[in-house]
Amino acid sequence: MLDRAEFPRDKPCGGGVNLRAVRLLPFDIAPVAERPISGMRISIRQGRSYLRYAPAPISYLTQRRRLDAFLAERAESAGAAFRQRAAVRGVEREGRKITVRAGREAFTGRSLVAADGANGPAARLAGIRVDRSKEIALEGNITPKSGYPVEWVDVFGIDVGAVPGGYGWLFPKGDHLNIGVGGLCSIGPTLRARLDCLTRFYGFDPRSFWGLRGHPLPVRRPGSPLIAGNVLVTGDAAGLLDPMSGEGIYAAVWSGRAAARRLFAYLSGSEKTLDGYRADIEREIEPDLVTARQLHALFHLAPHLWARFVRRSPRAWRLICGLATGDTTYTDVKKRSALLAFGIDLAATLIERASPKPPALRSESR
Ligand SMILES: Cc1cc2nc3c(=O)[nH]c(=O)nc-3n(C[C@H](O)[C@H](O)[C@H](O)COP(=O)(O)OP(=O)(O)OC[C@H]3O[C@@H](n4cnc5c(N)ncnc54)[C@H](O)[C@@H]3O)c2cc1C
Repeated sequence: MLDRAEFPRDKPCGGGVNLRAVRLLPFDIAPVAERPISGMRISIRQGRSYLRYAPAPISYLTQRRRLDAFLAERAESAGAAFRQRAAVRGVEREGRKITVRAGREAFTGRSLVAADGANGPAARLAGIRVDRSKEIALEGNITPKSGYPVEWVDVFGIDVGAVPGGYGWLFPKGDHLNIGVGGLCSIGPTLRARLDCLTRFYGFDPRSFWGLRGHPLPVRRPGSPLIAGNVLVTGDAAGLLDPMSGEGIYAAVWSGRAAARRLFAYLSGSEKTLDGYRADIEREIEPDLVTARQLHALFHLAPHLWARFVRRSPRAWRLICGLATGDTTYTDVKKRSALLAFGIDLAATLIERASPKPPALRSESR
């Protein structure tokens, strides 16, 4: 593993590890999980709000500097060599051999996994043109002076309707709160003002922010490449982020696991190519991303109406919980009724045709 950062390092992220991601990991993240979350306070355009509880935790709130260092330690104890402060700056492919230049060193191997996130260059340097659209988020932390607010002990806040194409959030951590806004790339210049407004709505002073950071939310376009020869692309580098919720940890872990399995088969000679990785993603992840993108388009026609619907409908709340825990998927929603699936497909196609194509991530241009 090569990483340009020195660990523990932070990464702009709410740090919400939904139960569906927790379930994929072969070990417990309890040492770095700061708060189990079973409640959600949903507000509409920073106005009226309501609280819903699930019977058990649906998400675990972490700090990425702690979570990612913990994951790297687990990988090292499983036998991986981890080189830090090693920024990848060149990739050369010669037949079955790959040479990666990072810092002043060169590393040679039989395969490469480009897992370097939304801004990483590895896939591009290996000649893979990943087609991802760019949404954007800004987040920061607040440590309340008057002690940890009791209303945010096991509840996170979601505010809908105030951010085009996205939402605002409050994620509780051990001793502080993470507050953020994310949405369409075009709202970039207004993100700070929107974040300040949301922060005041939650009752905090935006002047007390620390660790303010912005970062892209990369969403792949269907059919965008996932492999080229012996190079695989995973997580944000492949744009596997859920366009509806902005959740990316689940797909990063899922794709990492799939990459590991297929690499093992490839390197041990039982599979001749890495095509199985693409097949895994196209079968298990991509259909859900396509449906999530459709639901995202429908949701943002009238977010306030959806929020009111969830308030009244226990089934809708159960669906949200099921998506977080992995007990249900976006495609399951369409499988429930052929008529509903037809309606979603039709409405989403009409909306997409009427909307301008979002810009591609700058790192894709070659
Ligand atoms: C503001 C914000 C809030 C979010 N909140 C959530 C959330 O609450 N829950 C959730 O599930 N998802 C969330 N996401 C999405 C989530 O953060 C990402 O989808 C997830 O981190 C992707 O994991 P990854 O391993 O693919 O990439 P990253 O986590 O971005 O890891 C990439 C790694 O590559 C390294 N790297 C980059 N360039 C190089 C280079 N040249 N050479 C070597 N190494 C390099 C980086 O240092 C980094 O360690 C959020 C995203 C944003 C922007």
